[in-house]
Amino acid sequence: MRTPHLIHPAEPEFDEVGETKLDHLVSELLTALGEDVTREGMKRTPQRIERSLRFLMSGYDVSVEEVVGGALFTAEASDMVVVKDIEFYSLCEHHMLPFFGTAHIAYIPSEKVLGLSKFARVVDVFARRMQIQERMTAQIADALAEVLRPEGIAVVTEASHLCMMMRGVEKQGATTRTASMRGVFKTDARTRQEFIESIR
Ligand code: ZN
Repeated sequence: MRTPHLIHPAEPEFDEVGETKLDHLVSELLTALGEDVTREGMKRTPQRIERSLRFLMSGYDVSVEEVVGGALFTAEASDMVVVKDIEFYSLCEHHMLPFFGTAHIAYIPSEKVLGLSKFARVVDVFARRMQIQERMTAQIADALAEVLRPEGIAVVTEASHLCMMMRGVEKQGATTRTASMRGVFKTDARTRQEFIESIR
């Protein structure tokens, strides 16, 4: 857990940023890029960027156990559960530009079921970091597999990458889909197919 730390005692709206000051580093970066950080509109920008980055990378500070909390229940269920269109926003670790889209999760319970809202929270744990989409998808699947010990778990993510759209190849329409299948979703083509159909 991060201890709230008062960096700008005179400016209480910034009192819950973390341990290390980043705003001066952001100022330096912007200055080196040719920006005048003293002009009116930019005055508080380094602090805002710091706060924003701390939020966008807050996934490092939470564990899946914390997020799941008391929402794990024992239940006699063995039918497929699908949670689809979970919005997520992440940052690509190569360019620190956003990639964002939706995650679809399915599992076949063994003995435990998880409160539905928790799937979105687990997605955020891994999205709010520097990521690559492939690893994020696998981490979500592995974390849920560990928590739920299900018969199978499947995670599909679809995302647009600003590093492809704003720079580089500048391809606006391209989306990337990655999938991680565990247990019966990996071994049984029909189960996998049923999931894929359900998220179409
Ligand atoms: Zn990138």
